[in-house]
Amino acid sequence: MIKLLSVRFAYQNALTPVFDDFNWQAKRGEAWAVLGPSGCGKSTLLYLLAGLRMPTKGQVLVDGSVLTRPRPQTGLILQDFGLLPWATVSQNAVLGFKVRTFYGPDGKHAPAAVKANLSVDPWLERLGLTAEKHKFPGQLSGGQRQRVAIARTLALNPDLLLMDEPFSSLDAPTREGLQQLTLELLQENNLTLVMVTHAIEEAVILGRKILLLGQPPNRQPEIIDNPGSGQPEYRDSPEYVRLVRDLRRRIGEG
Ligand code: ADP
Repeated sequence: MIKLLSVRFAYQNALTPVFDDFNWQAKRGEAWAVLGPSGCGKSTLLYLLAGLRMPTKGQVLVDGSVLTRPRPQTGLILQDFGLLPWATVSQNAVLGFKVRTFYGPDGKHAPAAVKANLSVDPWLERLGLTAEKHKFPGQLSGGQRQRVAIARTLALNPDLLLMDEPFSSLDAPTREGLQQLTLELLQENNLTLVMVTHAIEEAVILGRKILLLGQPPNRQPEIIDNPGSGQPEYRDSPEYVRLVRDLRRRIGEG
């Protein structure tokens, strides 16, 4: 699904590249959490996968094709929800469809056939937002707003979901609820997930595999298998506690 081949990426005028000769792959259906201290390159990696930044050298392949621009089958969910304040929940959720049908899946103007089936109602229902349909973002809690952003993205039927610190501005119970929901949605829709987070607990809950980045330049990815992720009660298991403690020690938080 994702392949990074000898990727080098440096911001203009930066002395050190963020990635240098960096190789990494993720298979379809895998759930990855990208973890590391602030400034290590987590968001940069996500923007490279989204096609919003291009490698200075090497290639990023998604689904066998070299990425040269954002692809329509990739969903991107960011921390600040990206909702239009003057549009209702329903209108916000349908926005992705509108953009896609205007431009078409190939990024050009849409053929008429693509313009069918604009219903986001099943997604609003799945995400528990039916009663909020006609409200504006300002009338919603942070957790509800993030659910609208998720509904909008999933309505486009993505195969790859990229999330950048999606739940970090939410309180703990809301965050845990949305983590659980994300796990369910991944299974239901056979999605590949790459989620960037600086929160170790969140990485261990959601990442069946964890990609640990360090201070740039990142050359060798460090990969940690986390087979317990997604299992019921994992949060209370000794494996979970051990991995969180181990990662905390490695990242230098504790
Ligand atoms: P993280 O998401 O892990 O906090 P980033 O990917 O945002 O890290 O940043 C990686 C490095 O690149 C940091 O040193 C950061 O200062 C630098 N950086 C990020 N964005 C830019 C930019 N637009 N221009 C120059 N340097 C940047």
